[in-house]
Amino acid sequence: MSEHKVVKSEEQWRQELTPAQYDVLRRAGTEPPFTGEYVYNKESGDYRCAACGTALFDADTKFESGTGWPSFTEPAVAEAVELRPDNSLFMKRTEVICRTCGGHLGHVFDDGPGENGQRYCINSAALAFQPAAASAQDDGEPAGAALPAQPDSDTR
Ligand SMILES: [Zn+2]
Repeated sequence: MSEHKVVKSEEQWRQELTPAQYDVLRRAGTEPPFTGEYVYNKESGDYRCAACGTALFDADTKFESGTGWPSFTEPAVAEAVELRPDNSLFMKRTEVICRTCGGHLGHVFDDGPGENGQRYCINSAALAFQPAAASAQDDGEPAGAALPAQPDSDTR
């Protein structure tokens, strides 16, 4: 069992996320290729988890893969993501999950162009892009430390 810092009920996620985000992040869905918001985004900045806001990928590692999904050579912080074998659909793949909230992000393949040879194939719907200008102070500090520690029990 993996433990996630951000845990919410499916009902809460359903209310907070858009239907497209919910389908990808909570149901491990895959958005249709070439439809995602960030496929062709070349701005510099951070790609954060659309569900919990954790910084996951840096625009510097994004590359044009031609697959129709945002593709990265590596996570911004290795610990930010969790890799899990996924043998569904009769394929041997490795699922990429947000370690903070357990949300499904996409898959990682070993045919990438970088030194480590990895290609993180990530759904746009699982990401929230933050342009570089807005996160100038975000250097070296682990994300998530500022999360409020209030119990989240009011679900009326
Ligand atoms: Zn997350």
